[in-house]
Amino acid sequence: MANTIASRLSAKPPVLSVEFFPPKDEAGEASLYRTAAQIKEEARPDFVSVTYGAGGTTRERTLQHARRLKDEYGFEVMPHLTCVGHSRDELREIISGFRDDGFRAIMALRGDPPKGEKTFKPHPDGLAYGSDLVAFIKDEYPEFEVGAGGYPEKHPEADTLDSDLSNLLKKTRAGADFITTQLFFDNRDFLTWRDKAQALGVNIPIVPGLMPVLSLKQVERFCGFCGATIPQALRERLEAVQGDAKAEARVGQEWATEQANELLESGVPGIHFYILNRSESTLAVIRELSRAGFSLPQAS
Ligand code: FAD
Repeated sequence: MANTIASRLSAKPPVLSVEFFPPKDEAGEASLYRTAAQIKEEARPDFVSVTYGAGGTTRERTLQHARRLKDEYGFEVMPHLTCVGHSRDELREIISGFRDDGFRAIMALRGDPPKGEKTFKPHPDGLAYGSDLVAFIKDEYPEFEVGAGGYPEKHPEADTLDSDLSNLLKKTRAGADFITTQLFFDNRDFLTWRDKAQALGVNIPIVPGLMPVLSLKQVERFCGFCGATIPQALRERLEAVQGDAKAEARVGQEWATEQANELLESGVPGIHFYILNRSESTLAVIRELSRAGFSLPQAS
């Protein structure tokens, strides 16, 4: 397949992508599109992705913003999709809609249990795992490239890193084209996990997901949801300046720059930034990486 995300991940320079989420209100929407314009002008990512929410209206917003980012801002856009609450027929309808709107790649996930529920329960005629959604798309819509999620510190529900890795292998065997990871703050976790995944047979590109931290409060909230660990050294650096928003964000930028630098040196095929619809920190990291000599899409 020509010029697919996977083919670019297998070539040079490293692929740069950023993730947006559908905002809740008008102020959030204005901020998303301000950010999109800055990211477009200064970072020129290879592609952007738009997360998929748990509720009905959030889902419509995924599509609405994915379309606008594609049609008005000219990004290559990969919408996310989850199995939460969907029958197979609904999934068919959504995926056909993605195809008709001109999207060519989907990030396929199981999704988290809806608010108030502790365990994930698949729709009676739905899919139970991320690997099932990968297989479903590849089987019925082979024209799509499919990304899947990976967890360097293991998925919070998994008993062990090894059992989670064998489930990552299922996603690969189901036909996933690449893996993007959950955010993490200690590169050793990623590098050890990646080596194990590759040794097990995960032979598709694995892209680390990084989030430049904005504040200690924010990162604590995030890690509460996703199970990532905040290294003591990062916590101490944030605590030392806590309350000074600019200084906290600067610590986050420095940490993400150090992480990205080391990961690029270790040969990762790309970096996916969780930008939280904000541009400043990610752009600061990308500028630093360019200064350090990494050939990323932007250079200004
Ligand atoms: P799965 O791969 O299905 O794994 C879930 C759990 O089941 C794991 O513990 C795994 O080890 C286990 N498991 C997997 N397969 C099997 C099997 N065959 N048998 C037994 N156990 C198995 N969430 C959203 O709601 N919207 C988004 O847009 C979104 N985007 C994301 C993007 C990325 C890059 C990542 C990493 C996560 C994203 N998430 C998103 C979060 C994700 O939905 C949750 O982490 C969810 O709990 C797991 O989804 P998954 O597809 O990785 O799950």
